[in-house]
Amino acid sequence: MEPIRTTCAYCGVGCGISATVTGERSVDIAGDVSHPANYGKLCSKGTHLGETVGLDGRLLYPEIAGQRVAWDHALDAVAGRMRDCIHEHGPDSVALYVSGQLLTEDYYVANKLAKGFIGTGNIDTNSRLCMASAVAAHNRAFGEDVVPVNYDDLDETDLVLLVGSNTAWCHPVIWQRIEQARAERGTKIVVIDPRRTETAEQADLHIAVPPDGDVALFNALLAEMMQRGELDEAYIADHCVKPEGFWEGLDNTLHGLSASDFNALAGLVASHPRMITLFSQGANQSVGGTDKGNAIINLHLATGRIARTGAGPFSITGQPNAMGGREVGGLANMLACHLGFSDSELADVATFWGAPNMCSGPGHKAVDMFRAVHDGRIKFIWVMATNPAVSMPDAGFVREALERCPTVVVSDVMADTDTGRLADIRLPALGWGEKDGTVTNSERRVSRQRALFSPPGETRADWRIICDVATRLGYGDAFGFTGPSAIFREYAAMTALASKYGKLLDLSEHQTLSDNEYEAMEPFRWGGERPFAEGFSTSHRKAQLVPVAIPKICTDLEFPLRLNTGRYRDQWHTMTRTGLSPKLSLHRREPLLEVHPDDAARDGLEQGGLAEIATPFGSGIFRVEVTEGQRAGEIFAPIHWTDAMGSLGRAGRLAKDATDPVSGQPGFKDTPARLAPV
Ligand code: SF4
Repeated sequence: MEPIRTTCAYCGVGCGISATVTGERSVDIAGDVSHPANYGKLCSKGTHLGETVGLDGRLLYPEIAGQRVAWDHALDAVAGRMRDCIHEHGPDSVALYVSGQLLTEDYYVANKLAKGFIGTGNIDTNSRLCMASAVAAHNRAFGEDVVPVNYDDLDETDLVLLVGSNTAWCHPVIWQRIEQARAERGTKIVVIDPRRTETAEQADLHIAVPPDGDVALFNALLAEMMQRGELDEAYIADHCVKPEGFWEGLDNTLHGLSASDFNALAGLVASHPRMITLFSQGANQSVGGTDKGNAIINLHLATGRIARTGAGPFSITGQPNAMGGREVGGLANMLACHLGFSDSELADVATFWGAPNMCSGPGHKAVDMFRAVHDGRIKFIWVMATNPAVSMPDAGFVREALERCPTVVVSDVMADTDTGRLADIRLPALGWGEKDGTVTNSERRVSRQRALFSPPGETRADWRIICDVATRLGYGDAFGFTGPSAIFREYAAMTALASKYGKLLDLSEHQTLSDNEYEAMEPFRWGGERPFAEGFSTSHRKAQLVPVAIPKICTDLEFPLRLNTGRYRDQWHTMTRTGLSPKLSLHRREPLLEVHPDDAARDGLEQGGLAEIATPFGSGIFRVEVTEGQRAGEIFAPIHWTDAMGSLGRAGRLAKDATDPVSGQPGFKDTPARLAPV
């Protein structure tokens, strides 16, 4: 068979894959040498995708109360219960919780149904847990959620600051590209991270900031650049606005940072105008995540290191289609296509959709959404392609909320997940290799995911399930899409509205694609070659320098340690796919608690022994790894293991539910904790 060009199922690098189907459910995987995201390279997760396409554990038929039912019966039940809920309790009693695993076409119809036809802003996505703070920082500084860096810039930069990113493990193909730049042009690499990660081991300089110490560091860097006369006054005058007293308000104290490390970093920054600051979950997953993003952006704006070759602040997304979801409006605080909730934007979107029941404003962000489920304000929730009973902070509370909710609908590919166990109605969805549509990666590049296999059992595409429910609600005319290409055309046409409001998101040239052209679509990037070179997306076309606050450090005598959580190299989220690959499981066979030798000695823990982590939210038992890679007073645990796997090492029960006040993103990286031997 001829290879089929598709896109990786995992991270936001968005690597192109060349897949050769070799049997009914088997496929050979290679990197797509023509795809500009990876030019043929793949990491271990992408390489072993072929081991994860079997049907073990799949949800193949619709179920109500655990019993197999016909699709018509299941769809009638979803639509009927939703209609009754809206009738009795109003549209805001209904919520959709969706996922960066959905394709853009799935996301588009989910957002359209919620905001234009049900009439609720209550649609949010697990991308809230991943990069909502970067989105908020972009919106505050640029007037639009746009990443102003391309992957090519990594080839042409002289200094890369990696902030809160274990790039070598979590975005490996980007890391390979940075390493190549180092080999070819001597690019310097600085890692700013509390942990001495695999990435930090290989950096020219590792700044072991305390948790949430990034704002202090970037504020101090900006003050230092001002003192050294390194600001780009002409760029500031022409392209930026700043509030009164911005410079005077900069706090340049080092807040526990080593002066020699800081001076080394400041020297590198001052001498390398081609500088990229790549930031990821370590920055975003914080109660001060939005300010961290703006502290980074402030430095780039004030030194003119943006909208130029090899320079800029670069938020890299965790999920394969977090960016596509942001584009169509899958976050509760965005309407659609980078538009907000002003009267004119609401009216324009209502006209475009022919929407009978437009929402009146933003809905609940993820953590608040599950609080509203818990206290009964939301009585119907439809969870698509995600596992919040594991992945949300304070997951025990989320589980309780789902147990209380009168109607929980779950669309998923897997039969047994922690969230699926709490569902009243379960709908079998297509997985990677079966779905067809588009995703957008971290550099705004739209690529096709293509089907390799026919749908197993009675599985259906998410977009089709949503449209089938919409039709039963009486909205068949607006949801009569014949396939993902038809949805993509409507989405592309709608981005003309974003353009009308001065946004860069404009795919309208693709609105007339034929089905064949959509099928053959090559990867393309929106936003132009150099976003913001001609001005920003604010009304005055200038960027905003944003004053930022240094987060307060909370100390708790009962829980004296600070728990950080994150990923392993070869696993993905709650392991529903990567857990199927024997080779990927070799890297880390079980979840390890990483602890500094001083803390291990004080708490009586031994290398390889068991320890209980307790936080104000829950507890879990992990095997101990004593390592100098942790700062004393801080511990680390991976996020992947779940109750459904019979595992004790479940970090989701542990994390605090406090969120960033602007973005609503949870502060997963810093939960008070204590340890005891088991
Ligand atoms: Fe897939 Fe990300 Fe690995 Fe690329 S870097 S192969 S997108 S997991």
